[in-house]
Amino acid sequence: MFIKVWGCRGSVPVSGKDYNKYGGDTTCIEIRTPNDKAIIIDAGNGIRRLGAELLESGIYEFDLFFTHLHWDHILGFPFFRPIYCDKCAVNIYKTHFMQTSVEESLQSIMVNPNFPITLDEAAGQITYKTIEKSGIEIDGVSLEPIPLSHPNGGAGFLITYKDYRIAFLTDNELGMTHPGGLTLDQCAERIKGVDLLLHDTEYKDDEYSKVKGWGHSTISQSIELAIKADVKGIGFLHHNQDRVDDAVDLMVEEARALMNKSGKSIKVFAVYQDMFLSFSGDGLPRII
Ligand SMILES: [Zn+2]
Ligand SMILES: [Zn+2]
Repeated sequence: MFIKVWGCRGSVPVSGKDYNKYGGDTTCIEIRTPNDKAIIIDAGNGIRRLGAELLESGIYEFDLFFTHLHWDHILGFPFFRPIYCDKCAVNIYKTHFMQTSVEESLQSIMVNPNFPITLDEAAGQITYKTIEKSGIEIDGVSLEPIPLSHPNGGAGFLITYKDYRIAFLTDNELGMTHPGGLTLDQCAERIKGVDLLLHDTEYKDDEYSKVKGWGHSTISQSIELAIKADVKGIGFLHHNQDRVDDAVDLMVEEARALMNKSGKSIKVFAVYQDMFLSFSGDGLPRII
């Protein structure tokens, strides 16, 4: 079992020398189960490289979950090679917390005049499924949906494998509660004591007043959640498109200072593209 981050940029892909460390591809994470089943969360453009690698490894069945359907989380879907492969089966999951149809949304980005091929013309076997609120287990890995506080709704996931628990909460605004979402306290209760919290920290505190309501959290909100939930580590993600590597480093420094001030020893870092979490040893997942 491992988790690999194929993209952690927010809003729109970026590229260039200023983005080498944290990467420019938008949200996509892979959970590879002990028997090599591929669970994928979100189809940001990070999914393009992932699809190619999985096919090369001889994997032809995929379980693809969507947190929500904002552009940056679906834009890689038409470039996910398995949807064009006639021996591939792609199971696409939606949660009850999503306010729109996944099927309609994916079909709508693959139509004239936006794209040359429709989804119906793609050769892969695509099946749409809905996950119960209690979650789903695939090959020993369970995913339990957690409602996001975000415009148009959505769900993050509590991922459990053996004794490890990881909360993946992208696009989650803790500074206000969007319809269907959780307050900061409710969120802390749901993810209490997880080994690792991967949380949307798109903004610095002094940027927030101009972007309140856009669906994303700040450094101090994420740190407050980590402390209240008593997690062992927090990784920031959904990096703003204008946040170059040095600026992300500064956000982490600021967050570590806040954490030190609180007297807690929770590990704080920023998630980066191609980050790999290994679950092969004892203790906490190892970040490579
Ligand atoms: Zn997003
Ligand atoms: Zn979003």
